[in-house]
Amino acid sequence: MKIVTILGARPQFIKAGTVSREIAKYNEIEEIIVHTGQHYDANMSDIFFEEMQIPKPHYNLDINGLGHGAMTGQMLEKIEEVLQKEKPDWVMVYGDTNSTLAGALAASKLHIKIAHIEAGLRSFNMKMPEEVNRILTDRISTILFCPTGSAVDNLNCEGYENLDIKVVKNGDVMQDGAIFYKDLAVEPTIELKGEYILSTIHRAENTDDIERLTAIVLALNEIAKEIQIVLPLHPRTKAILEQNGLEVNCTIIDPVGYLEMVGLIKNATLIMTDSGGLQKEAFFFEKPCITLRDETEWVELIENRFNVLAGASREKILEHYKNFKFNDDFSMNLYGGGKASSIIVKELLDV
Ligand code: UDP
Repeated sequence: MKIVTILGARPQFIKAGTVSREIAKYNEIEEIIVHTGQHYDANMSDIFFEEMQIPKPHYNLDINGLGHGAMTGQMLEKIEEVLQKEKPDWVMVYGDTNSTLAGALAASKLHIKIAHIEAGLRSFNMKMPEEVNRILTDRISTILFCPTGSAVDNLNCEGYENLDIKVVKNGDVMQDGAIFYKDLAVEPTIELKGEYILSTIHRAENTDDIERLTAIVLALNEIAKEIQIVLPLHPRTKAILEQNGLEVNCTIIDPVGYLEMVGLIKNATLIMTDSGGLQKEAFFFEKPCITLRDETEWVELIENRFNVLAGASREKILEHYKNFKFNDDFSMNLYGGGKASSIIVKELLDV
């Protein structure tokens, strides 16, 4: 069996790596990895792949720095060429990026079977490009691997029970990754003054809306008077803060490699983020999380009070920081417990 895996961003490589390591156990499966180049990442040198024990991409399409339409269009064209040459049985796509949609579309037009991993997630916010990408990718896939029961419920609500698309609840590949990397984590290199909060802000809905960004920064500055806030800052966010003269009184650091990030998460007291992945990593490493978004795809974290939505409201962020009663019993198995990748590979061999 031949699989072409389409990836475009560092978190996708990390998640796909867990599946690649599983695939490598089977002689009968060959995996060809295509990096679209969607997110240029200086940290994705050879060392990244070695340290993370992730296979290097076989193709690098180097498509980046374009608007959504041009980027998706160029990817579609280039991925089609790769698929025509490689003639795989399956195309595997992850998550909700433009690379995900382009990979699925290219495969669908060539009648190649599509496996979508992290399927069924919905924010119900159609202004998010990610939401559009996920909905369209789900609809043209052959098999949908859902990380959670709520993702399966979303698909059922959209009528997937009546479609000829296999839906599997396999758990979250990110938890497989968290388990794999837990013991490989490296100690943070920055100076920490005891307890600290780890925060990230990078979503367009926050960075591109100056009112939201200002409210978040004001709340962080207020909290930083009491406890150190470590903020690995995305270059996009950094540029916007500078352009708008917004002063952040946190410990700002450059984005860190994943093994150091895991080290930072493991030692943090609280996570405050607008990242989807980090909300779950908070749970995997048993940390409470305040989410700086109005909605989340990871509703089970909210329902069980491991996480609380604060949006971009200064008052809500401060209120939740001071008073929210988080659930501190992390024994609940919300994401499959580390078997997500092995279920994917077994299913593909079975179909
Ligand atoms: N991350 C990292 N270094 C950083 C910031 C984030 O390794 O400096 C990791 C983080 O732990 C998570 C992933 O990158 O696993 C999240 O990526 P991002 O926030 O870009 O995407 P999202 O999760 O929102 O899709």
